[in-house]
Amino acid sequence: MNLILLGAPGAGKGTQAKRLEERFGLIQLSTGDMLRAEIAENSDLGAQAKSFMDGGRLVPDELIIDIISRRLDQDDCKHGVIFDGFPRTVPQAMALDGMLEEKHLEIDHVIELKVEDSAIVERITGRFSCAKCGAGYHDKFQRPEVDGVCDACGGTEFTRRTDDKAEVAKKRLDAYNEQTAPIVGYYREKGKIESIDGMASIDQITQHLVEVLG
Ligand code: AMP
Repeated sequence: MNLILLGAPGAGKGTQAKRLEERFGLIQLSTGDMLRAEIAENSDLGAQAKSFMDGGRLVPDELIIDIISRRLDQDDCKHGVIFDGFPRTVPQAMALDGMLEEKHLEIDHVIELKVEDSAIVERITGRFSCAKCGAGYHDKFQRPEVDGVCDACGGTEFTRRTDDKAEVAKKRLDAYNEQTAPIVGYYREKGKIESIDGMASIDQITQHLVEVLG
């Protein structure tokens, strides 16, 4: 099963993708995570992507399409993937269709997590993650059981993404509304889109996704 999770930044795509990964044995393909890994490795691609990301703008399509195409060729993707944060423009969606056809793969579900714009900035600016294992938390919605200690690995150091600051978060939301939202229409025309209320609790959203995915 291959699936696309659509939704504004902070809609909960990453959180839900991690849960679905475990439940259905799928691989999460987050282009944001891939780009952050490139930046951490000081690669040329990372250097090219960084200024776009720091400014809350989308990285050019050709860089993203290339990184996804190479990742999809790896063996672990054969049993199914969750696209998280990709495609983010109509040209990326069209390129994905071409890529999948070439690789004899198909998208089974395109699921949109619908969240009100007014909730987005609070969701993004409250996020943090464990510096050791990457487990994600939120100041208000998902605190560790013991303050300052990661539930998953016991780590005591946490990090926040530099692009999760309020002023960058607003630009990312603008980019979503201008460049990414039209993708919903693209998949609707193909009769593929399913929408889920992303304002519900994390557990309720997971339950709803599991029902949709069967
Ligand atoms: P994310 O982790 O999905 O919130 O992505 C963080 C940032 O990486 C975005 O604000 C963009 O600058 C960049 N990015 C991630 N995925 C894409 C994509 N599919 N197309 C263009 N830029 C992307």
